[in-house]
Amino acid sequence: MKPTNPIFTGIETTIFETMSRLAMAHDAVNLGQGFPDVDGPEDIRKVAADALLEGPNQYPPMLGLPELRQAVADANKRFYGLDIDWQTEVLVTSGATEALADSIMALIEPGDEVILIEPLYDCYLPLVKRAGGIPVRVRVTPPTWELDLEALAGAFTENTKSILINNPMNPAAKVFDDREFNEIANLCVKHDVFAICDEVYEHLVFDGATHWPLMNFKGMRERCVRIGSAGKTFSLTGWKVGYITGAPKLLEPIAKAHQFVTFTTPPNLQKAVAYGIAKGDSYYETLAADLQAKRDRMAAGLQELGFGVLPCAATYFLTCDISGLELGDNDVDVCMKLVEEAGVAVVPVSAFYASDAPTQFIRFCFCKRDEVIDEALSRLSAYLLPDKAVARN
Ligand code: PMP
Ligand code: GLN
Repeated sequence: MKPTNPIFTGIETTIFETMSRLAMAHDAVNLGQGFPDVDGPEDIRKVAADALLEGPNQYPPMLGLPELRQAVADANKRFYGLDIDWQTEVLVTSGATEALADSIMALIEPGDEVILIEPLYDCYLPLVKRAGGIPVRVRVTPPTWELDLEALAGAFTENTKSILINNPMNPAAKVFDDREFNEIANLCVKHDVFAICDEVYEHLVFDGATHWPLMNFKGMRERCVRIGSAGKTFSLTGWKVGYITGAPKLLEPIAKAHQFVTFTTPPNLQKAVAYGIAKGDSYYETLAADLQAKRDRMAAGLQELGFGVLPCAATYFLTCDISGLELGDNDVDVCMKLVEEAGVAVVPVSAFYASDAPTQFIRFCFCKRDEVIDEALSRLSAYLLPDKAVARN
């Protein structure tokens, strides 16, 4: 038989799925894959349920239900002061993942260089390669995850077509600062480059900080596509409803990719997400405040156990340095030990690198009920500090 496409043939199942399967197999507390363990607001789910029963359940418009596109445009104004034409500048997709795939397919031509920032979310690399793009990697460096601006400038060439930027960033839990974004914007303008902005964690930002899209920076309004995810904003990750905001010149070909990938997204979910986006400020404030409290609860517990907890400004994730523990210094081996022997599933950060990854970091997902966080900490304590556990009993 002739070979199947090598980019997808023989690659591993994603680390998130792998760790979730292992968590189930070992009856472990699952702090691996990023999903909340409590479903998002009941009123949003009720809108979806009612719309499912009442219908119509036929193909909605290819670009998305007008009410959801309007809600996305309104949110851009409300949160970021962006004036967006809902009819020509918003597209609804089946999750941010589809939005990324559509954008990469539509904007990248074979031979184009695409700048990616490591650690990087798992789908970026195969999608860029499958589009014929040439990935050019730069890094943010732990523990502060600063972007090396000189290395970034050096990555831009006359062949650069796009930069793909995840802000807030998974797994680094970093929010890019103005200095970094001003420089990225300058470089994009100077080299005539697009930016595909994965902003799925836009509303999960802590300590009173504000998320600013790269689209708000000088010269970027026409060069950016901005991707959001209802999964993250409403704690409904299984719904897979995403949205793209971008200038018509970019959005048009992206919509053409979308029309041949999924064409549409379930109409009842779109209706419910439109309802959700219009929620008052207190919804968004509580979402971030609740997560921040969980971050603090988990960070304090992990620190006490000897993990080197890195700063976390946003997202669902805490990254920890394991080199101070006596577990070994290979993140993959440590994650295997923790799931099999301690009964806690987490994710090795090396999975977010294409090569030459640091191996002393592991990622904990903290969007879990307090009792689940506490159970994980107590299992880790029993495993790492068995004498203390005996003394307590
Ligand atoms: N981008 C990043 C950085 C993510 O962490 C995720 C994971 N949920 C996604 C995209 C995918 O989002 P969705 O589930 O809406 O496809
Ligand atoms: N984004 C989620 C994470 O980082 C996983 C989503 C998925 O499994 N595809 O854990």
